[in-house]
Amino acid sequence: MRKKIVAGNWKMNNNLIETELLLSKLKNSNLAPNVEVMVSPSNLFLKTSIDFLSSSKIEVVSQNVHNKSNGAYTGEISVGMLKSIGINKSIIGHSERRSHFQESNETLLEKSKLCLENGLGIIFCFGEELSDRKMGKHFEVVENQLSTTVLQISKNKWQNIILAYEPVWAIGTGETASPDQAQEIHQFARNIIFKKFGKELSENTSILYGGSVKPKNASDIFSQTDVDGGLIGGASLIAEDFLSIIESNSES
Ligand code: PEP
Repeated sequence: MRKKIVAGNWKMNNNLIETELLLSKLKNSNLAPNVEVMVSPSNLFLKTSIDFLSSSKIEVVSQNVHNKSNGAYTGEISVGMLKSIGINKSIIGHSERRSHFQESNETLLEKSKLCLENGLGIIFCFGEELSDRKMGKHFEVVENQLSTTVLQISKNKWQNIILAYEPVWAIGTGETASPDQAQEIHQFARNIIFKKFGKELSENTSILYGGSVKPKNASDIFSQTDVDGGLIGGASLIAEDFLSIIESNSES
């Protein structure tokens, strides 16, 4: 059975004190037992966050990782470094990485393989731009993103892959995909996995939705058959909103 998940991507927000304050609000709350909860603070505070949350069920995940295992890559962070501090998952291919840092599907495949070969799970993001959707190309774009990246990965590594559909036009814009639009792409993605790897894997892969999920729209989105939870940006920076979103997924 696939897992219900709510993950918060804090991006380049929160200094150390703000990070600890937000972590303590989450740690001291009652979290639904049927939802896996993850937070992704700045890489600088990952170890502090792990230590801070040691007695909590909240998992700390990385926002990014480099595509080479080590070497002369100034400012970058490797899979081995993350593993050594107890990180077990990284977000890969967020649209902000694709657009601001020119990360191609080729690089993302390299990153994904390196992570999975070394026991680091991935939350792999995909999703179309507004122009793709306006031209009716969203299915084609999504299929291409998946087939050139995660679908190249062998079946036996998929227990460590979570997918996140994040339509670029809905990220940080206040614009949300309607529950039907989200369901349509999630079902499409699940069907692509089904065609390549079969029923069991397609049914067991968690597919999250990301794009302006807020307490007021979370329930409608999470209640869709193929939506297993959310990757949350802005609303994950406000403890009360993030907790409410987790609760919505618990009840969906
Ligand atoms: C994100 O950055 O992954 C995201 C979904 O952001 P927001 O919730 O702010 O749209």
